[in-house]
Amino acid sequence: MSEYVLRTFHLTKKYQRDKALDDIAITIKKGEIYGLIGQNGAGKSTLLRLITGLAFPTSGSIELFGQMQSYVSREVQKRIGAIIEQPALFPNMSASENLEVHRLQKGVPGKGKVGEMLELVGLDHVGKKKVKHFSLGMKQRLGLALALLSDPEFLILDEPTNGLDPIGIVEWRELIKKLNREKGLTVLISSHILSELHQLATSFAIIHKGKLLEELTAKELDDKCKQHLYIKVDDPKKGAAIIERQLATTDYEVMPDGMIKLFRYVDDVRTVSQTLTQNGLIIEHLSINGDSLEGYFSKLVGGIDGE
Ligand code: ATP
Repeated sequence: MSEYVLRTFHLTKKYQRDKALDDIAITIKKGEIYGLIGQNGAGKSTLLRLITGLAFPTSGSIELFGQMQSYVSREVQKRIGAIIEQPALFPNMSASENLEVHRLQKGVPGKGKVGEMLELVGLDHVGKKKVKHFSLGMKQRLGLALALLSDPEFLILDEPTNGLDPIGIVEWRELIKKLNREKGLTVLISSHILSELHQLATSFAIIHKGKLLEELTAKELDDKCKQHLYIKVDDPKKGAAIIERQLATTDYEVMPDGMIKLFRYVDDVRTVSQTLTQNGLIIEHLSINGDSLEGYFSKLVGGIDGE
């Protein structure tokens, strides 16, 4: 069995002459929570629509569950649960009535499934309350229950936290983590706010104006954003040796250009500069570096806009 739930190759979608997606290659492994980040109009929804078979690519290809798709077949669609547009809810019905209608439409066996889904998404206490009287958070949860009805392996969510308050966002995050942990669901989730997915996703893709700017693991993202001292000395090898011996840490990196990133002593620049100079090194540069998540995102996106 393939370790990949999704791989896209040179995926491109044109609307008239404009490319909404341009040569996108992403890889999602089984069990991952994959965050798709991009500003409004970046192409997130378009990508999710292609993956779920709601739209067709202009060129390129999609592999789902290890099988190349010329179009996303119904068999494959059944293995995916998605909320891409607003879920079709009947406002005058209760949560359980909505679920029952969808269960029958989808041919999902077992009446008990409705109660199971309500419990799973934390709506088991809402009783007969009509959906039109639900909060946005409750509607989102019900949408999720609908997407989970047929026990999918791969859950795709397009900006599910849009419009939720901070507490709603935290609750939603915990719910997704629970589904990932307990049901082994692989999740693809989009947002225009990187920090919103930071505590949830295990991998990220950052897209901008239809292009993939970066695909990286959560650890790689953390390393990029981790505060550090950025040091240039006249002899980087000696600098590294002094850091290990005199400052007693191996938490540093010597970059290919000879710059040293020291992830300790960020609050004690003085000790570092004194130690280096006392050991005969000339410090040519010393600064505290490291972006906030949003700073990193803006730089990445701004770099492309500024080209
Ligand atoms: P948002 O966060 O605003 O939903 P998004 O990242 O999901 O943005 P998309 O909705 O995928 O972005 O749109 C990407 C680009 O493709 C935009 O420029 C949009 O105008 C264009 N686009 C999307 N759908 C269509 C369509 N059906 N016809 C023409 N252009 C489209």
